[in-house]
Amino acid sequence: MRLLVVEDEKSLRDDITKKLRLDGYEADACGDGNEARELLAVERYDLVLLDINLPGADGMTILREFRTVNYETPVLILSARSEITDKVEGLDAGANDYLTKPFSVEELLARLRVTARRLAMMQANNANESVFRNGKLRVDYAAGSAYMDEEELHLTPIEYKLLCLLSQNVPISQKYRKSSDTYLYYTKNLGQELG
Ligand code: CA
Repeated sequence: MRLLVVEDEKSLRDDITKKLRLDGYEADACGDGNEARELLAVERYDLVLLDINLPGADGMTILREFRTVNYETPVLILSARSEITDKVEGLDAGANDYLTKPFSVEELLARLRVTARRLAMMQANNANESVFRNGKLRVDYAAGSAYMDEEELHLTPIEYKLLCLLSQNVPISQKYRKSSDTYLYYTKNLGQELG
């Protein structure tokens, strides 16, 4: 399982990353919002740990942007903000879980195991079905069409293909990633299409 740790507090970032690796995870780490954006645009992660207050771009903005192109990858927010409205905002923006600082890294690892199990179950269910559903989105692989709120989306073939790949959570093939500009262009377009 490959994770991205986005946290600008170096000691916390190093502590989390070290323990994740000891626990058998592959982990990339960065402390800047813009760097996180770039990594999320070109790399594939199974899970993202995301701080909210960051230099560059803040975590909530990163999360909202990421969710326009990726509905699948779980995002766990790490934040010093403990206000209930902030939690709701994070969950509304598409976070899967929320940890308030200070937290123990052991608690974080326990939450990760739960999220990983949920993810494995979801992937197993999706693999058995010819239809993918997530929120308002439905992809009918057999019919070769996609729907939002049961309204058919008018996607170009490459956008449809990207949506299938994203919904199946498989790495985007080199063909589509040859130029990351092209990849960004299509995923951005697709994001707009999906609203
Ligand atoms: Ca921070």
